[in-house]
Amino acid sequence: MNIFQKKPKWIKVKLPMSKNYHELQKLVSVHKLNTICQSGSCPNIGECWDRGVATFMILGNICTRSCRFCGVKTGRPNKIDWKEPEKVAKSIKILKVKHAVLTSVNRDDLRDMGASMWIQTIQKIRYFNPNITIETLIPDFKGEKKIIDKIIDIKPEVVSHNLETISRLTKKIRIQAQYNRSLEVLQYIKEKNKNIRTKTGIMLGLGETEEEIIETMKDIRKSKVDIMTMGQYLQPSLKHYPVRFFIVPEQFQKLKTIGLKMGFKYVESGPLVRSSYHAEKHVK
Ligand code: SF4
Ligand code: SF4
Repeated sequence: MNIFQKKPKWIKVKLPMSKNYHELQKLVSVHKLNTICQSGSCPNIGECWDRGVATFMILGNICTRSCRFCGVKTGRPNKIDWKEPEKVAKSIKILKVKHAVLTSVNRDDLRDMGASMWIQTIQKIRYFNPNITIETLIPDFKGEKKIIDKIIDIKPEVVSHNLETISRLTKKIRIQAQYNRSLEVLQYIKEKNKNIRTKTGIMLGLGETEEEIIETMKDIRKSKVDIMTMGQYLQPSLKHYPVRFFIVPEQFQKLKTIGLKMGFKYVESGPLVRSSYHAEKHVK
């Protein structure tokens, strides 16, 4: 199945046309900022941007990894924009965001893998927006605890790291990542600070079975993760991994019920659910 094939009727997206959408687009473009909403071709951009909600992506828009599902460009990253932390923080202020979600490309080329820019950005966001809550959707930092500690020490309210898929498909989909390493990162964060909410997400429709999804959910719970998201994978371009099948909304609902019984605090499960979709609900 490829991107040109007709999507089922439940994959309905709001067209990005509103006044708020255009204002946010202008803000991002004037300050030369990046968002995963645009770089990841998120289907919710019309809805989220209309509400003034965006997920800023720091450390440029070129990733050193090449996950087969991801729409972000891959290759040799541009130079660091040292003014990026302040620009992101001020944009969040203009947007009057109450819960900011921040992510980054992977920067395996940098000695600290970009951790210092993460810290500076969080500090600036808090400086310009004193009452804000922050969610950091982080890379695995190759599992390096000294680097992960820097994120834990700055105490974002939510730390998210996506597993993206089941164990069997990880090597195919997230070529440079490891299923167990991602679980260990999530568990380590919770063990170091139980007050930080931990979160992860997987995409469905990549060829996984229901049993494999449930096994993955169990693994995630064992790693003491609080919040889980599940959404339909959509192929960003013909070069990317194809959609194997579309999951019906009832199946998403069934998985949500299973997840809540397993003890997750929140489970967001639906065709258009993405890691940062309605993220503000998860800090309450
Ligand atoms: Fe952006 Fe997340 Fe909304 Fe998608 S779901 S548009 S990535 S804020
Ligand atoms: Fe995309 Fe993240 Fe993979 Fe980079 S590491 S290609 S940004 S999913």
